Amino acid sequence: MDKKLMKSTSARVLLTADRTLMSNYRNDEFLGFGTTAPPNVVPEWFFQLLFFPPIKRINGIPAEAPYGLRKIEAQLLNEGFEVLIVDPDHLGEYLDEADALGIHVMDPFGLGPASSTFSRILKTGEPYVAKYFRLLLEKPELVEAKKRGLKIVVGGPGAWQLRLRPKFVDDHKINCVIDGEAEKVVGKIFRTAIEGGELPRFYEVSAKESPSLDEIPEIRNPSINGLIEIGRGCCRGCQFCSVTSRPLRWYAYEKIEKELKVNVGAGIKYAVIHAEDVLLYGSKTVMPDREKVRKLHELCKDYVESLSWSHTSMAAVAAAPELVKEVAELIINDKQEWWGTEIGIETGSVELVRKVMPAKVRPFKPEQWLEVVKTAAGIMMDNNLVPACTLITGLPQETETDVIKTIELMDDLKDFKSLIVPLFFVPLGKMKDKDWFTMEQVNNLQMELLIRCLRHDIYWAKVIMKSYFKEEWYSRILSVLYWLFVKIIERKAKRIYDVPIQLKNREVEAEK
Ligand code: SF4
Repeated sequence: MDKKLMKSTSARVLLTADRTLMSNYRNDEFLGFGTTAPPNVVPEWFFQLLFFPPIKRINGIPAEAPYGLRKIEAQLLNEGFEVLIVDPDHLGEYLDEADALGIHVMDPFGLGPASSTFSRILKTGEPYVAKYFRLLLEKPELVEAKKRGLKIVVGGPGAWQLRLRPKFVDDHKINCVIDGEAEKVVGKIFRTAIEGGELPRFYEVSAKESPSLDEIPEIRNPSINGLIEIGRGCCRGCQFCSVTSRPLRWYAYEKIEKELKVNVGAGIKYAVIHAEDVLLYGSKTVMPDREKVRKLHELCKDYVESLSWSHTSMAAVAAAPELVKEVAELIINDKQEWWGTEIGIETGSVELVRKVMPAKVRPFKPEQWLEVVKTAAGIMMDNNLVPACTLITGLPQETETDVIKTIELMDDLKDFKSLIVPLFFVPLGKMKDKDWFTMEQVNNLQMELLIRCLRHDIYWAKVIMKSYFKEEWYSRILSVLYWLFVKIIERKAKRIYDVPIQLKNREVEAEK
């Protein structure tokens, strides 16, 4: 951690995030999925211990912080602000000197696809992500600071949700919500906040205000789990996604190396490389650039012992089997048996692919989608790449036939070592004016799909868990605890849906 930062005891701008975001998820970014669950049969303290234990702190300053917050910290430091990232449970120790507080949000009301689906399926209430965001704003020390004039600015990937709850924004006296890539606007907003000027209630960052590569600062202090960005934007244009509206930019190796050095300098021995499609690093097309991807991984491996990806695509994996093999040879070693990523499958229906995500298949054609998914699954299995995949149901264009096709695909993927997470459609991107899909609208076919995903995940979660914490002294204890958690979910699902989760897949009624 930056020594100057450690010595600071006050700053005019504080930055923080709620408890669910200020965690390293036991050194595994993908366990962060657990924060999207609603409070359930597992006691809260125990759930937090399993999925989002607090990050290590020194005098209330977190040793690692969410990457997005680190970017804002770097931008404000570059502009000459006195700024500190503070753990949410230690805000009271720093608020007296502060004029403004920036809060980073990912899914502040649990409206993101994962949390809204999770809470509807489990039929319980407010997801942890939402509960802890609300609790942060309700902290007595924060309420007191607001009374004396502290300004609150909220931003991050989940900022869009606050537009849907203007009353919450008013009730909690949030002064400004920034929606979009904030580097070029955050300085003027915090300056206005400190000087007591008029702040816009909502500030939507336009495409013109998106920072160029040179305008994106490098992080100054360590990010959670060594996450580093390698690029922004996506060229695939899926209609249900908001990333598409941003220009595609790939970081130069030098920029990536600077951030690796920051994390490694703080003792972090692993990295999550983040982009919407890591395999397309440096490419101007939908074909992976072998040399660039290889060099990227060699660079990272010069610094860290283990590596994983945030996202890639089925199409890129299927288009570059040799490259995946080369990357696996660089990543897999005695210390790391497999690596993870997130991938969108979304549907097993070619018709639906044509309607909402034709470019997700490129360089292949929409009619090749099922082959692309199955080929990519085989390549990943062969190379120890274990993904968390998403499916979307409830898209306005989805027909019963589309759902049947997706169920059939689930059958084809039953031997695919992966988690496959069903998500309900959430109106975002080009579809932001469409209606939300709710649990009440779930028909029998969609229920069958949810159950098949649950069966798949319970089976593979048990397998994956065996290798999860191998290196840690507490691995056996944690394995037992996670196993218990999976058992509880299994029982709960059986009780709610009256289905034998562990039995062989049933035939779909509608297919007969
Ligand atoms: S491929 Fe992923 S990031 Fe890109 S537009 Fe589609 S859903 Fe969004």
